[in-house]
Amino acid sequence: MNYCRTRAIVLQVTAHGEADKIVTFFSPDLGRATGIAKGAKRSLKRFVNKLEEFSLLQFIYRPARGDGLLFLSEAELENAHLSLRTHYDRYVTATYAGELTLRFTLEQDPDPEIFALLAWTMHELADGREPLEVAAFFHLRLLGAAGYEPRLDRCGFCGRTVENGQEWSMHAGRGVVVCGGCRQDQRGSILPLRMQTLRCLQHAQRADLKSLSRLRLARKNALEALTLLHRYTQHLLQHDIHAWQQMRRLAADQIPAFPPSV
Ligand SMILES: [Zn+2]
Repeated sequence: MNYCRTRAIVLQVTAHGEADKIVTFFSPDLGRATGIAKGAKRSLKRFVNKLEEFSLLQFIYRPARGDGLLFLSEAELENAHLSLRTHYDRYVTATYAGELTLRFTLEQDPDPEIFALLAWTMHELADGREPLEVAAFFHLRLLGAAGYEPRLDRCGFCGRTVENGQEWSMHAGRGVVVCGGCRQDQRGSILPLRMQTLRCLQHAQRADLKSLSRLRLARKNALEALTLLHRYTQHLLQHDIHAWQQMRRLAADQIPAFPPSV
Protein backbone atom coordinates (compact mmCIF):
# COMPACT_ATOMS: atom_id res chain seq x y z
CA MET A 1 0.00 0.00 0.00
CA ASN A 2 1.44 3.39 -1.01
CA TYR A 3 1.87 6.11 1.56
CA CYS A 4 1.70 9.81 0.67
CA ARG A 5 2.89 12.95 2.42
CA THR A 6 1.16 16.32 2.64
CA ARG A 7 1.43 19.55 4.60
CA ALA A 8 -1.67 20.43 6.60
CA ILE A 9 -3.25 22.87 9.02
CA VAL A 10 -5.33 21.04 11.62
CA LEU A 11 -8.86 22.45 11.92
CA GLN A 12 -10.71 20.02 14.19
CA VAL A 13 -9.78 17.05 16.36
CA THR A 14 -12.27 14.72 18.02
CA ALA A 15 -11.78 11.60 20.09
CA HIS A 16 -12.95 8.36 18.52
CA GLY A 17 -13.37 5.34 20.73
CA GLU A 18 -10.76 4.48 23.35
CA ALA A 19 -7.60 5.31 21.51
CA ASP A 20 -8.22 6.96 18.12
CA LYS A 21 -8.67 10.51 16.92
CA ILE A 22 -10.55 11.90 13.91
CA VAL A 23 -8.74 14.88 12.41
CA THR A 24 -10.12 17.40 9.92
CA PHE A 25 -7.45 19.47 8.22
CA PHE A 26 -6.74 21.63 5.19
CA SER A 27 -3.96 20.67 2.82
CA PRO A 28 -2.64 22.14 -0.46
CA ASP A 29 -2.89 18.75 -2.20
CA LEU A 30 -6.18 17.48 -0.78
CA GLY A 31 -8.09 20.62 0.20
CA ARG A 32 -10.32 19.87 3.17
CA ALA A 33 -9.83 16.29 4.30
CA THR A 34 -10.60 14.06 7.25
CA GLY A 35 -8.53 11.17 8.51
CA ILE A 36 -8.30 8.75 11.39
CA ALA A 37 -5.21 8.54 13.58
CA LYS A 38 -5.32 5.03 15.04
CA GLY A 39 -3.92 4.76 18.52
CA ALA A 40 -3.31 8.54 18.63
CA LYS A 41 -3.98 8.72 22.37
CA ARG A 42 -1.35 6.06 23.09
CA SER A 43 1.33 6.59 20.49
CA LEU A 44 3.83 9.01 21.99
CA LYS A 45 6.17 8.94 19.05
CA ARG A 46 3.78 9.22 16.12
CA PHE A 47 1.21 11.74 17.32
CA VAL A 48 1.46 13.08 20.85
CA ASN A 49 1.20 16.87 21.18
CA LYS A 50 0.99 17.16 17.42
CA LEU A 51 -2.70 16.65 16.64
CA GLU A 52 -3.80 20.00 18.04
CA GLU A 53 -6.05 22.61 16.42
CA PHE A 54 -4.19 25.15 14.25
CA SER A 55 -0.91 23.19 14.16
CA LEU A 56 1.01 23.22 10.90
CA LEU A 57 2.37 19.75 10.23
CA GLN A 58 3.08 17.09 7.67
CA PHE A 59 0.99 13.95 7.56
CA ILE A 60 2.10 10.63 6.20
CA TYR A 61 -1.13 8.95 5.19
CA ARG A 62 -2.76 6.24 3.17
CA PRO A 63 -5.46 7.48 0.77
CA ALA A 64 -9.07 6.75 1.59
CA ARG A 65 -10.94 3.93 -0.07
CA GLY A 66 -14.03 5.39 -1.69
CA ASP A 67 -15.50 8.16 0.46
CA GLY A 68 -13.97 6.87 3.69
CA LEU A 69 -11.42 8.45 5.99
CA LEU A 70 -7.74 8.79 5.21
CA PHE A 71 -5.52 6.59 7.34
CA LEU A 72 -3.08 8.91 9.13
CA SER A 73 0.09 6.98 9.80
CA GLU A 74 2.35 9.65 11.29
CA ALA A 75 2.61 13.41 11.85
CA GLU A 76 5.70 15.63 11.78
CA LEU A 77 5.21 18.98 13.44
CA GLU A 78 6.34 22.09 11.52
CA ASN A 79 4.86 24.72 13.83
CA ALA A 80 2.59 24.11 16.83
CA HIS A 81 1.37 27.76 16.86
CA LEU A 82 1.10 27.20 20.59
CA SER A 83 0.01 30.75 21.48
CA LEU A 84 -3.19 30.28 19.45
CA ARG A 85 -4.33 27.92 22.20
CA THR A 86 -3.18 30.03 25.13
CA HIS A 87 -4.34 33.55 24.10
CA TYR A 88 -8.12 33.99 23.92
CA ASP A 89 -8.15 36.63 21.16
CA ARG A 90 -5.86 34.55 18.95
CA TYR A 91 -7.82 31.37 19.67
CA VAL A 92 -11.16 32.97 18.76
CA THR A 93 -9.78 34.44 15.55
CA ALA A 94 -8.15 31.14 14.50
CA THR A 95 -11.46 29.38 15.23
CA TYR A 96 -13.30 31.95 13.09
CA ALA A 97 -10.85 31.39 10.21
CA GLY A 98 -11.19 27.63 10.59
CA GLU A 99 -14.98 27.74 10.56
CA LEU A 100 -15.06 29.95 7.45
CA THR A 101 -12.63 27.58 5.72
CA LEU A 102 -14.85 24.60 6.51
CA ARG A 103 -17.91 26.45 5.22
CA PHE A 104 -16.38 27.65 1.94
CA THR A 105 -14.48 24.52 0.89
CA LEU A 106 -15.36 20.99 -0.16
CA GLU A 107 -13.84 17.68 0.89
CA GLN A 108 -10.80 16.76 -1.18
CA ASP A 109 -10.87 19.77 -3.52
CA PRO A 110 -7.18 20.83 -3.65
CA ASP A 111 -6.58 24.56 -3.23
CA PRO A 112 -2.98 25.73 -2.61
CA GLU A 113 -4.14 29.39 -2.49
CA ILE A 114 -6.50 28.77 0.43
CA PHE A 115 -3.86 26.67 2.20
CA ALA A 116 -1.29 29.49 1.84
CA LEU A 117 -3.84 32.01 3.16
CA LEU A 118 -4.71 29.82 6.14
CA ALA A 119 -1.04 29.19 6.94
CA TRP A 120 -0.41 32.96 6.65
CA THR A 121 -3.28 33.65 9.06
CA MET A 122 -2.07 31.22 11.73
CA HIS A 123 1.47 32.58 11.41
CA GLU A 124 0.41 36.24 11.73
CA LEU A 125 -1.76 35.47 14.78
CA ALA A 126 0.99 33.46 16.45
CA ASP A 127 3.34 36.35 15.70
CA GLY A 128 1.16 38.61 17.86
CA ARG A 129 -0.50 40.70 15.19
CA GLU A 130 -3.84 42.40 16.00
CA PRO A 131 -6.41 39.59 15.60
CA LEU A 132 -9.26 41.73 14.19
CA GLU A 133 -6.98 42.99 11.44
CA VAL A 134 -5.83 39.47 10.53
CA ALA A 135 -9.45 38.23 10.59
CA ALA A 136 -10.58 41.01 8.21
CA PHE A 137 -7.82 40.30 5.68
CA PHE A 138 -8.35 36.53 5.91
CA HIS A 139 -12.11 36.82 5.43
CA LEU A 140 -11.77 39.16 2.44
CA ARG A 141 -9.20 36.94 0.71
CA LEU A 142 -11.04 33.71 1.43
CA LEU A 143 -14.14 35.11 -0.28
CA GLY A 144 -12.01 35.93 -3.32
CA ALA A 145 -10.37 32.48 -3.39
CA ALA A 146 -13.78 30.82 -3.09
CA GLY A 147 -15.19 32.81 -6.04
CA TYR A 148 -17.20 35.41 -4.08
CA GLU A 149 -14.86 38.40 -4.18
CA PRO A 150 -16.68 41.58 -3.11
CA ARG A 151 -16.74 44.29 -5.79
CA LEU A 152 -14.95 47.26 -4.28
CA ASP A 153 -13.65 49.34 -7.21
CA ARG A 154 -16.91 50.76 -8.58
CA CYS A 155 -20.58 51.13 -7.73
CA GLY A 156 -22.32 47.79 -8.21
CA PHE A 157 -25.41 49.57 -9.61
CA CYS A 158 -24.31 52.47 -11.84
CA GLY A 159 -20.65 51.52 -12.43
CA ARG A 160 -19.22 54.80 -11.10
CA THR A 161 -15.57 54.44 -10.06
CA VAL A 162 -14.76 54.86 -6.37
CA GLU A 163 -13.22 58.28 -5.75
CA ASN A 164 -12.19 60.05 -2.61
CA GLY A 165 -14.46 62.75 -1.21
CA GLN A 166 -17.68 60.85 -1.86
CA GLU A 167 -19.84 58.76 0.40
CA TRP A 168 -19.80 55.03 -0.18
CA SER A 169 -21.67 52.15 1.41
CA MET A 170 -21.82 48.43 0.91
CA HIS A 171 -24.79 46.38 -0.25
CA ALA A 172 -24.19 43.35 1.95
CA GLY A 173 -26.66 41.14 0.09
CA ARG A 174 -24.78 41.54 -3.18
CA GLY A 175 -21.24 42.10 -1.94
CA VAL A 176 -20.80 45.34 -3.89
CA VAL A 177 -20.09 48.97 -2.95
CA VAL A 178 -22.82 51.53 -3.58
CA CYS A 179 -22.36 55.22 -4.43
CA GLY A 180 -24.31 57.96 -2.64
CA GLY A 181 -26.51 58.49 -5.72
CA CYS A 182 -27.67 54.87 -5.92
CA ARG A 183 -28.00 54.26 -2.20
CA GLN A 184 -31.51 55.74 -1.81
CA ASP A 185 -32.90 53.48 -4.54
CA GLN A 186 -31.67 50.27 -2.95
CA ARG A 187 -33.48 48.07 -0.51
CA GLY A 188 -31.91 45.55 1.75
CA SER A 189 -28.83 45.62 3.82
CA ILE A 190 -26.87 48.83 3.13
CA LEU A 191 -24.04 49.36 5.58
CA PRO A 192 -21.74 52.36 5.98
CA LEU A 193 -18.17 52.06 4.73
CA ARG A 194 -15.45 54.59 5.55
CA MET A 195 -13.21 55.59 2.66
CA GLN A 196 -10.14 54.61 4.72
CA THR A 197 -11.52 51.08 5.20
CA LEU A 198 -12.53 50.79 1.55
CA ARG A 199 -9.09 51.85 0.27
CA CYS A 200 -7.31 49.40 2.57
CA LEU A 201 -9.57 46.52 1.51
CA GLN A 202 -8.93 47.36 -2.15
CA HIS A 203 -5.17 47.01 -1.49
CA ALA A 204 -5.71 43.83 0.53
CA GLN A 205 -7.59 42.17 -2.34
CA ARG A 206 -4.61 42.52 -4.69
CA ALA A 207 -1.57 42.30 -2.38
CA ASP A 208 0.61 39.19 -2.23
CA LEU A 209 0.81 37.63 1.23
CA LYS A 210 4.17 39.23 1.97
CA SER A 211 2.71 42.68 1.29
CA LEU A 212 -0.43 41.78 3.21
CA SER A 213 1.78 41.29 6.28
CA ARG A 214 2.81 44.94 6.03
CA LEU A 215 -0.66 46.40 5.36
CA ARG A 216 -2.29 48.05 8.38
CA LEU A 217 -5.99 48.40 9.17
CA ALA A 218 -6.88 50.30 12.37
CA ARG A 219 -9.04 48.43 14.87
CA LYS A 220 -12.24 50.42 14.21
CA ASN A 221 -11.79 49.95 10.45
CA ALA A 222 -11.10 46.24 10.88
CA LEU A 223 -14.33 45.89 12.85
CA GLU A 224 -16.25 47.81 10.18
CA ALA A 225 -14.80 45.56 7.47
CA LEU A 226 -15.55 42.38 9.42
CA THR A 227 -19.16 43.46 10.02
CA LEU A 228 -19.68 43.95 6.28
CA LEU A 229 -17.94 40.74 5.29
CA HIS A 230 -19.84 38.76 7.90
CA ARG A 231 -23.19 40.11 6.70
CA TYR A 232 -22.31 39.33 3.07
CA THR A 233 -21.20 35.82 4.11
CA GLN A 234 -24.44 35.20 6.02
CA HIS A 235 -26.29 36.09 2.85
CA LEU A 236 -24.14 33.76 0.71
CA LEU A 237 -24.28 30.77 3.04
CA GLN A 238 -27.76 31.35 4.48
CA HIS A 239 -26.16 30.09 7.64
CA ASP A 240 -24.72 31.59 10.83
CA ILE A 241 -21.00 31.60 11.53
CA HIS A 242 -20.89 30.39 15.14
CA ALA A 243 -17.55 31.98 15.99
CA TRP A 244 -18.91 35.42 15.03
CA GLN A 245 -20.41 35.98 18.49
CA GLN A 246 -16.99 35.50 20.08
CA MET A 247 -15.46 37.82 17.49
CA ARG A 248 -17.97 40.50 18.46
CA ARG A 249 -17.11 40.13 22.13
CA LEU A 250 -13.46 40.41 21.18
CA ALA A 251 -14.18 43.66 19.36
CA ALA A 252 -15.94 44.97 22.48
CA ASP A 253 -12.90 44.02 24.61
CA GLN A 254 -14.87 41.43 26.56
CA ILE A 255 -12.06 38.97 27.13
CA PRO A 256 -12.82 36.13 29.57
CA ALA A 257 -10.17 34.26 31.57
CA PHE A 258 -8.43 31.93 29.18
CA PRO A 259 -7.73 29.06 29.02
CA PRO A 260 -10.79 28.51 31.25
CA SER A 261 -9.76 27.35 34.73
CA VAL A 262 -10.95 23.84 35.60
ZN1 LIG B 1 -24.07 54.17 -8.19
